[in-house]
Amino acid sequence: SLSDSLDKTFRNLRGVGKISEKNITDALREIRLALLEADVEFTVAKTFIAHVKEKAMGADVLKSIKPGEQIVKIFHDELAELLGGDQVPLNLDSPGRILLCGLNGAGKTTTAGKLANRLKREGRKPLLIACDLYRPAAIDQLATVAGQVGVPVYTPDASESDVVKVAKEALAWADSQDGDVVIFDTAGRQEIDERLVEELKQLHAFLKPQETLLVADAATGQGAVSVARHFDEAVGIDGIILTKLDGDARGGAALSMRAVTGKPIKYAGEGEKLDQLFEFHPDRMADRILGMGDVVGMVEQVATRIDEKDAMKSMERLASGKFDFYDFLDQMKMIGKLGDMKGLLSLMPGFSKMKKQLPDAAFDPKRLKRTEAIVLSMTPDERRRPEIIKGSRRQRIANGSGSTLVEVNRLLKQFGEMRKMMRSPKKMKKMMGGLGALG
Ligand code: GDP
Ligand code: MG
Repeated sequence: SLSDSLDKTFRNLRGVGKISEKNITDALREIRLALLEADVEFTVAKTFIAHVKEKAMGADVLKSIKPGEQIVKIFHDELAELLGGDQVPLNLDSPGRILLCGLNGAGKTTTAGKLANRLKREGRKPLLIACDLYRPAAIDQLATVAGQVGVPVYTPDASESDVVKVAKEALAWADSQDGDVVIFDTAGRQEIDERLVEELKQLHAFLKPQETLLVADAATGQGAVSVARHFDEAVGIDGIILTKLDGDARGGAALSMRAVTGKPIKYAGEGEKLDQLFEFHPDRMADRILGMGDVVGMVEQVATRIDEKDAMKSMERLASGKFDFYDFLDQMKMIGKLGDMKGLLSLMPGFSKMKKQLPDAAFDPKRLKRTEAIVLSMTPDERRRPEIIKGSRRQRIANGSGSTLVEVNRLLKQFGEMRKMMRSPKKMKKMMGGLGALG
């Protein structure tokens, strides 16, 4: 994905002590390839790279203590600029009119429901109007969506074919409702054709909506951008709602959209559910595109925090089956270091998935402390040969560590299981959970 390729490039840049013009040129070439691979329009990518290059070549950057970081920052800011700078809110009167247009399957009907849902939560009183007269199922679909978000809906007779007539009747109906913003769902086509454009022009001229929003499928990449340009030429759009961003690993449509059309992306659809429509914030999107890269950087930090020699030594002992409570303590310390990294990592975008894969218990500092206390209450001999820890010793350890006999027993049992697991690498992962899972 775009994030991955950029990440590699930036890691290389960050690793360079002194940045030269050649470093920058090399990095920019890679970035340009990554952008093109992500289906960003050629001229957009070219102009973008020229901007970044101009800023990155600035003498101050080359002299800075961390030129790599600074170039990443320049890239981030330019990316946010390319994506449109500031978030552009809807500009609605009261009552307001929103006209949604776009090709078939782009997500218009779903987005109509999502938008109604959002506006309702923001305290407005949206009404939905079905103006897709080509497919009877489309009217039912909007009615269903309206029911789900609890918003009144106008559904014309299936035999109607005059979209302006329907719109007129719908407005009369809207007047009788307690609503303050009317959202029109329209028909699409597989491609832009004359009939689609003509009908949309008439509807647009009649409704004079404050917001004519193109709904475009992000997964269609440059296709979405050219669709946006055509709709803008036909009726003049006020903004774009980019749907299916959840499934778009390339991100190219988002990146070229603003530069090519000059129109802001106002919302992003990120899922099929009716609450999965989000305001589009260019700076956050830039964070996201770069965000994965930062996570990888952080993970690398985790790796360097754990002393490789210690880890190897401990692994060798594990492999040879000579695992005792000293090794156990070492491991806990390693995991402890990971623990505060986990807190840091949680702040980074994109980390949630990884976090889920790691057991929480393994990172609970309180639990680790209690486990550690028990081990510290053992004599050196007991730590080396845990099998000698029987009845009265257990009670003594419990007393000494301020824990209960039950807790000591549980730790010893876990330790015994761990030792057994050590012989099976597949079970090593499970072990991570067991380490801190006391109490
Ligand atoms: P329309 O023909 O433009 O009205 O498109 P629909 O609203 O009927 O949507 C077409 C398909 O895309 C449906 O299956 C939707 O559930 C799906 N869809 C719409 N928006 C999104 C989105 O943001 N993410 C995902 N994953 N699917 C979406
Ligand atoms: Mg539809």
